Amino acid sequence: MNGIVYFIGAGPGDPDLMTIKARDVLASADLVIYAGSLVNTELLKFAKPGAQLHNSASMELGPMVDMMATYAKLGRIVARLHTGDPSLYGAIAEQMRELDKDGVPYEVIPGVSSAFAAAAALKCELTLPEVTQTVIFTRMGGRTDVPKKESLASLAAHGATMVIFLSVKEIDKVVDELRTSYRVDTPAAVVYKASWPDEKIIRGTLADIAGKVAEAGISKTALIFVGKAIAGDDMQAYSKLYDKEFKHEFRK
Ligand code: SAH
Repeated sequence: MNGIVYFIGAGPGDPDLMTIKARDVLASADLVIYAGSLVNTELLKFAKPGAQLHNSASMELGPMVDMMATYAKLGRIVARLHTGDPSLYGAIAEQMRELDKDGVPYEVIPGVSSAFAAAAALKCELTLPEVTQTVIFTRMGGRTDVPKKESLASLAAHGATMVIFLSVKEIDKVVDELRTSYRVDTPAAVVYKASWPDEKIIRGTLADIAGKVAEAGISKTALIFVGKAIAGDDMQAYSKLYDKEFKHEFRK
């Protein structure tokens, strides 16, 4: 077996936000399995002519892993495309464990998470000095449970920047839980399809964000941001990094 499986972060949507490494691997792959619900199919034009293309949306874990293993054992290259970065809500752990059982080698190529594409769209610094130095990536419990200690209400108690995946459909519930700790005038934003041509940005506060999102008709493919840092206009402190009074290793 000289074949290998590459788990690839395909980025948030814009084909130019895929890494060069990922694009090169995709161009060399004999089998491409892509998460069709979110991966931009424009990316598939970088696959080589004659490559087998499969949408994982209609596949189950067993047959999908078998297909990847079969190709790898024949010495072929497999590209498994996940949206954003595969380490976040990508269900790659189970695929890797199954490949381990089969002795199939694999590597992971990181990607630009939708969290970062959305932060770029919002033009905000998630870790604003003296406001917060912490970002929490989380989701509302749904068909996949969230551990009790990680309820939105308990995470909200930190006052950090929160980036909430997979939950825009239930934004009313999200806001209710957040308001147990965040003030009602805390900035909130929703970014729909970050980096796609039909990207939408909705800004507001915890008081009005849910209504604005309903009005815009957004119920999927969106991230919810909350926290003082995302407003940017009430920036309280500048960083020490570029402060003329502050010396560091590279500027003495
Ligand atoms: N691994 C992915 C996340 C997969 S979970 C990543 O790093 O981005 C799928 C969820 O990600 C969606 O429900 C939505 O909340 C978010 N998402 C994926 N692509 C998005 C995009 N282009 N814009 C906004 N949210 C997106």
